[in-house]
Amino acid sequence: MEEHHVIIIGGGPAGLTAGIYASRAHLKTILLESMIPSGQAYMAEKIENYPGFPDGISGRELIERFTQQASRFGLDIQRFTAVDKVEVTKDTRTVIAGDKKFSAPALIITSGAKYHTLGISGEEEFSGKGISYCATCDGAFFKDQDVTVVGGGDAALEDVLYLSRLTRKVYVIHRRDQLRAQKILQRKALEEPTIEFIWDTVVREITGGDAVKTLLLENGRDSKQKELAVSGVFIAVGQSPNTDFVRDVVELDDKGYIITDQDCATAEAGIFAAGDVRQKGLRQISTAVGDGALAVAAVERYIEGQP
Ligand code: NAP
Repeated sequence: MEEHHVIIIGGGPAGLTAGIYASRAHLKTILLESMIPSGQAYMAEKIENYPGFPDGISGRELIERFTQQASRFGLDIQRFTAVDKVEVTKDTRTVIAGDKKFSAPALIITSGAKYHTLGISGEEEFSGKGISYCATCDGAFFKDQDVTVVGGGDAALEDVLYLSRLTRKVYVIHRRDQLRAQKILQRKALEEPTIEFIWDTVVREITGGDAVKTLLLENGRDSKQKELAVSGVFIAVGQSPNTDFVRDVVELDDKGYIITDQDCATAEAGIFAAGDVRQKGLRQISTAVGDGALAVAAVERYIEGQP
């Protein structure tokens, strides 16, 4: 069993920031990552709203820079270490990953969230080439173009309203004839002339060349198919946090996000959560980075208070 001061689970912006702060504070820290770097930030084609990069930066390069900075302070990063379980005793949190065990007084969970996909032909191929799961991240690339949002919940309609301020036209494709989103968002979207709703319809296929060009739509009532030409597709059909391995250890909200206080501490002593995995108002790289720093400050206070 390996002993550390802090174990971090997840190597996205929150986890790597926590790694930088903890290692720099001379806490013996290990970061466990299920594979090689991956996650939502790493996959982003271009990030334009993270300060410090006036021309934008690819997610891959940003995460590589975070990793180099963390390594400079001595963070131990263990790749291909998918966590199965966390066990808690009075003074120790033990993380079990396959046949490996790691233990420490403090644990920071930064395992992120995953967007739901449609699972249709072309979705993987054109991801980052016209298909996005985050309008606030990628909307600016579609200025004055025609785009589509798929979904009818709060996230979809917030994306629709955001995109309507940037693009020429926004089509909303919803599988039913009633929206799930809050009434206030519905009203705003229905009043906006550049937003057009396509009801009772699903996307069957996404095609294009170097980037998205055409969607094949199918009406759920009469099964009639038609094509729609757009350059951007924003898929907003929900997302889920990666919290299965801690569901018996910390308190989760009804969507599975970890409940913390404003310093990223859970109600379970010694366990902290930072970034997209926790219940919060805005899931972005900048807020994940802030969380990572807050969590380490809370960890330091926790460790100092231990007998
Ligand atoms: P959501 O509320 O679960 O809505 C998902 C939407 O996607 C639904 O309209 C659903 O259709 C549709 N959908 C799901 N799977 C689909 C599929 N395979 N094909 C086509 N459509 C599909 O998810 P969300 O909008 O991401 O919101 C998640 C939570 O965060 C919610 O509790 C929401 O209230 C909250 N949130 C709040 C705010 C805010 O308060 N400002 C902003 C964003 C999110 P059906 O309606 O037919 O099921």
